[in-house]
Amino acid sequence: MKDTLGREISYLRISLTDLCNLRCVYCMPPEGAKKLAHQDILSLEEVEEIAREAVALGVRKIRLTGGEPLVRRGMLSLCQALGRLPALEELTLTTNGLLLPQMAAELKAAGVDRVNISLDTLDPQKYARITRGGRLEEALAGIRAAKEAGLTPVKINCVLIGGFNDDEIPALAALTEAEPVEVRFIELMPIGHTTGFGPEAYLPCEAVLERLPQLQPVPASGGVAERFRLPGAAGAVGLIRPLSHCFCDRCDRIRLTADGYLKPCLHSREEIPLRGLHGADLRQRLAETILQKPERHGELSFRERSQSARDMNQIGG
Ligand code: SAM
Ligand code: SF4
Repeated sequence: MKDTLGREISYLRISLTDLCNLRCVYCMPPEGAKKLAHQDILSLEEVEEIAREAVALGVRKIRLTGGEPLVRRGMLSLCQALGRLPALEELTLTTNGLLLPQMAAELKAAGVDRVNISLDTLDPQKYARITRGGRLEEALAGIRAAKEAGLTPVKINCVLIGGFNDDEIPALAALTEAEPVEVRFIELMPIGHTTGFGPEAYLPCEAVLERLPQLQPVPASGGVAERFRLPGAAGAVGLIRPLSHCFCDRCDRIRLTADGYLKPCLHSREEIPLRGLHGADLRQRLAETILQKPERHGELSFRERSQSARDMNQIGG
């Protein structure tokens, strides 16, 4: 269905858990997420019911995220249930990839179409630093497993952080040369645990175009990324620029938190409770939330922080 500004809301992102097997410095506190009580998180049956009503209202794409969606017990059976929704066109995941070597084939069999995998650096020491202890080789094994299982095209999410990984722009983009992967540079967003980053960290994605002037624009595949290609490359380079090029006018998404709130905008404080609602009441609350979607979020910069009351691991990106 359309919101009051005529935007077709066709994309639901579902956070399955706040918990994660990594602790990325821009996302989580060092001690990790506070574990919610079992009764405070949506059961997988509740998630399925909300997804079904959202699909009835016109949602055509669902992405499971978190925290780390692959650590949520029972998530494969949820994927099977969502994969059976006839009107759903795409079921995807955003993951850090660490559990993909064990799970990729089962995810594909359960109906997941493809995955986005987060990878901010190709340097093992820097990977350990940004994830607070993660092992790069495990993330790379996850990317290989996703490709082998046919969870393709794989998209690689890379948060661009000035002074941390801008020196790796050419090497990260080069991952698209031989294989049809999409490396997507995402501007660091001033939300939650990013207070330790200085102004230089908020590097506009323009830096990618400056470092790689040979990038040629290619048509967007829908969504919020602008797409480019290195000459002769099999894959694409995407830019997601929430700070320097606000894309609210083409935002097509709503977000469900693991504890059962709907967020009509990633960066607004507004949250609409869904728990306890069923059938027509649930569908009506979903429709009202879509109609309440704000026109745009406030300015975002080193000084102008997100108005979201939650950390990124509680929203799902
Ligand atoms: N654990 C999964 C993962 O890392 O892919 C899914 C959840 S994570 C919150 C989703 C995406 O949000 C990741 O690609 C992550 O890099 C991105 N992210 C987290 N904090 C961010 C921030 N402050 N600015 C920009 N992107 C961020
Ligand atoms: Fe975990 Fe993903 Fe957040 Fe990193 S970005 S701490 S992998 S939820």
